[in-house]
Amino acid sequence: MKDGQGGKQADLGADLARRVVDVPAPQTLEMMTRARALMAQGVDIVNLTVGEPDFDTPEDIREVAKKALDGGITRYAPIAGLPDMRAAAAEKLARDNGIDYRPEEIVVTNGAKQAISDTCLSFLEEGDEAIIPSPYWASYPGTVEFTGARCVYVPTTLRSGFKLTPEALRAALTPRSRLLFINSPSNPTGAVYRREELEALVEVVLSHPKLWILSDEIYERIDFTGRHVSTAALAGARERTITINGVSKAFAMTGWRIGYVAAPEPVARLLGRAQATLTAGANPFAQTAAAYALRQPKEATAYMTEAYRTRRDLVMELLGEIPGLRVSRPDGAFYAFIDVSAFFGHDASGRKVANSIEFTEYLLDRAGVSTVAGAGFGDDRCIRISTAASEAALREGIARLARAIRGLRRP
Ligand code: PLP
Repeated sequence: MKDGQGGKQADLGADLARRVVDVPAPQTLEMMTRARALMAQGVDIVNLTVGEPDFDTPEDIREVAKKALDGGITRYAPIAGLPDMRAAAAEKLARDNGIDYRPEEIVVTNGAKQAISDTCLSFLEEGDEAIIPSPYWASYPGTVEFTGARCVYVPTTLRSGFKLTPEALRAALTPRSRLLFINSPSNPTGAVYRREELEALVEVVLSHPKLWILSDEIYERIDFTGRHVSTAALAGARERTITINGVSKAFAMTGWRIGYVAAPEPVARLLGRAQATLTAGANPFAQTAAAYALRQPKEATAYMTEAYRTRRDLVMELLGEIPGLRVSRPDGAFYAFIDVSAFFGHDASGRKVANSIEFTEYLLDRAGVSTVAGAGFGDDRCIRISTAASEAALREGIARLARAIRGLRRP
């Protein structure tokens, strides 16, 4: 029966659109599903895969949503968002980021993820190129490829803090280059670009006639340097930048699905058109709560950022005690991206553990710790752990990682 079903699905796959069939299943979700299945069987698993805050949405934000629901804010929202939410996003971008956007230049989206897909749909055509510094957030390639455009990956190194250099960017440019992805703070590496580094990249972008920047700033609030720089705030950048942000990570609102995108007005209008075709306006009572959240002072969420910072410090200390592991200190977000390639080989039973997927499977099956393979983020030497977990879980997870590593034999 099971085999029969599998076969049927495979047959159907042959008839369905390649654009969907060929997109690899996201590693993060796959690992989470496997870990949860094991946990449901009673297996003791330390889950370090999650890509969302382990905090609850703050109570005052929830209260605003409840009131909005009871107040009847339940009908279709305008495609580009409720006027008040667009205004709140514009105020926030001026106050926190020093960028001057009018509400008409904001489109409220169903999560930042849709802001990225609206942008890709509006900018990329078949044969165009999107430049993606690698490692990258695992959803970027699929979103680009849905449009028929090509991903041009530009590798960065752990030694240079996983940051794109202007030289490497320049070397990747062609007449078909249309979009450059910048994600600071970064998922999965935690890299945070400094002002001068971004300025140097903007200079290269402006030397190209058609290249725009997609600046994904969803982890902005989780920046331990305290000096987050928005690309669009830099000289000359505003007219070539799409700024993407949202409330998912900053306010622990991942399930509410509210993001926003800011762009010069003619572009914002097109982004709205892409969204109108696909999904229409975002949930109005969630937008009402998001508008309230964006108007709160930064200090209101500082407790979460502080917790992530403390855990980052703990994780760096614990990983530092395992010789052979390499990790670049994350300056933001809630991940550590760890180079485990020094241990690739085989386990005591001879099973091959020679790439990041085999490594994460080995960790899950033999050590009871769930992580995500770097392959899905464009670096097969690494694994990602999430620090959106309790201190106890982090201590136990890393102790298990250390024990598992001792069980590996190099060729
Ligand atoms: N961008 C990056 C780098 C992310 O890691 C995520 C979520 O994991 C998103 C965008 C999507 O955010 P949202 O949940 O608002 O769609």
